[in-house]
Amino acid sequence: MASSIAILFDASKCTGCKGCQVACKQWNQLPAPLDFGDAPFSGSYESPAENSGDTWLRVTFDEIEPREDEVTIAFGRDACRHCADAPCVSVCSSGACHKTSNGAVAIDSSKCFGCQYCIAACPFDSPKFCEREKKAKKCSLCQDRLQNGLTPSCMKSCTADALDFGARSDMIAKAQRRALEIKSKFPNVEVYGVNQMGGLGVISILPFGADSHREMVNPQAPLMTQIGNMLPTVAGVGVLGALGVTALAFMGGRGSGYSEEQYTYDNVRRVTCDGGKPMDPNAPIVKLGLKKEEKADTKEVKASKKTVKASEGEVKKND
Ligand code: SF4
Ligand code: SF4
Ligand code: SF4
Repeated sequence: MASSIAILFDASKCTGCKGCQVACKQWNQLPAPLDFGDAPFSGSYESPAENSGDTWLRVTFDEIEPREDEVTIAFGRDACRHCADAPCVSVCSSGACHKTSNGAVAIDSSKCFGCQYCIAACPFDSPKFCEREKKAKKCSLCQDRLQNGLTPSCMKSCTADALDFGARSDMIAKAQRRALEIKSKFPNVEVYGVNQMGGLGVISILPFGADSHREMVNPQAPLMTQIGNMLPTVAGVGVLGALGVTALAFMGGRGSGYSEEQYTYDNVRRVTCDGGKPMDPNAPIVKLGLKKEEKADTKEVKASKKTVKASEGEVKKND
């Protein structure tokens, strides 16, 4: 079932200011690249080039064929679409990627063990792997804000009135009215998200048509995910069972990067994707298996701890 709530994105009003992109980072305490050269100019105002474990929302810029020396840009909104039929949820074996009570899709970090199946299953390429936490990350539709009677952070920041939030049925009605209003100026205008993937939790007004705003015209769950979902119904049927196993094996490959080392808990740095906050030093170590150079680092950390203790002793003596 589609979510009961939705974000409305009106690309005909968007100015590409990226206030929403920054607000998402700010609320979710997601760091931006700081080093020179981490985000090189790509010839477009779109930055960064793609979403990541630290960027859950990105405004996309696509230039439309210039008319009479005008530059026209089709803005897009790249973040989780909160699909009704969400393949990311159906492939998640730990229950981390789940439907919330309002029908949005969120990832419970405490349950995610970094298998990356949701990343492989998403047709919109929304969840991303956070290298520091070794977990999948994406927009949660600001569940923490909604639970406290607030609206999504990105929506609050939009001064161009290009974002709205409310009951999904109201957002669809509003989008359809707006599309009618601008139809004479934008004959290719489309309301996107009403039916895709069973109905999305992000409804978009796209004046130049879905494709121009980088939306998939007919998004589908990957075929192998669909076969994987058929497994319970084909249990005992040899050929189809074998296909299902092949599907899971394939997804394992696509969820790639899957290796023993990727499950290794970062015991040295103990930082998270939440702005590099130190983790609870007493948190249980999930799995050890440090690489050689990290073992060397660990020794250095232990050595420096001894130095600190020694100097503490000296201070006490001096006291
Ligand atoms: S804050 Fe509003 S106008 Fe600015 S980029 Fe986001 S949607 Fe567009
Ligand atoms: S956009 Fe991708 S991550 Fe978001 S609900 Fe749909 S399938 Fe899942
Ligand atoms: S709803 Fe919240 S988490 Fe999702 S893009 Fe907006 S600010 Fe980010």
